[in-house]
Amino acid sequence: MSEKTKQMKELIRNSHNLVVFSGAGLSAESGIPTYRGAGGLWSKYDPSKYADIQYFNQDPSYYWRFFKEERYPVIKAARPNKAHEAMVRLEQQGTLFQVITQNIDGLHQEAGQRKVCELHGNTRRIICLECNRSYHMDEVYRGLEKILPPLCSCGGLLKPDVVLFGEPLPQEALNTAWQATRECDTFLVVGSSLVVNPAAQIPLLAKQNGSLLLIINIDTTPLDEMADLVIHCPASEVLMEI
Ligand code: NAD
Repeated sequence: MSEKTKQMKELIRNSHNLVVFSGAGLSAESGIPTYRGAGGLWSKYDPSKYADIQYFNQDPSYYWRFFKEERYPVIKAARPNKAHEAMVRLEQQGTLFQVITQNIDGLHQEAGQRKVCELHGNTRRIICLECNRSYHMDEVYRGLEKILPPLCSCGGLLKPDVVLFGEPLPQEALNTAWQATRECDTFLVVGSSLVVNPAAQIPLLAKQNGSLLLIINIDTTPLDEMADLVIHCPASEVLMEI
């Protein structure tokens, strides 16, 4: 175990209220590409089209083609990795009291994590923009051969329940995240580039509130300088040791 991992283990062991803030890098080892960084999705698809609410409203078929060809098969095949599992153990031991995630893949919950707050929604859930009816992604995917973009039984347009650029974050999730951030004594960021706002403000708030700020990422982040400890390593490698 590296010296830094030993230090992080010690800090986490001494923590009473640990919050984990996770990003796409956590699920990279489950086979879900990140947005940014090497092999990121943005080198293959145009984010100004599939990740933007204005474009979705203008041409929803673009998003749904991306969903059919890329997102669904990848999410369907993905399984929680060792890092997700390590976090479940930290929760079971009573150290970790809240996961705040930017991820939309549902892998924390699939691993068995109980307290997960999803800032950007969940792509497994599809909602009708007219009547708000909710569908599971499997059901909608099956119909994509016949009709694209898919429609609700009421005739309304369907949209994955995720936050696209230009949309506000869900208020309830934000409230949970702010409260946990105010109450924690240790705030651990795992696999986030920390450039997507307003989510990226949350670790900053934790630090300003007097919490320890720890970061695990294979690359640098804009908050590395102010963090108490940074480890540049794959998430599963460090978390399994911890
Ligand atoms: P991001 O794509 O901007 O950044 C990913 C970060 O993870 C990078 O800093 C990269 O260096 C790091 N990383 C890659 N592999 C890693 C590993 N094995 N261990 C540790 N770090 C690793 O992701 P973000 O900061 O979460 O924000 C972007 C947006 O991406 C979010 O809104 C999120 O909804 C969306 N997104 C989610 C998923 C998912 O749910 N799995 C996938 C792609 C994008």
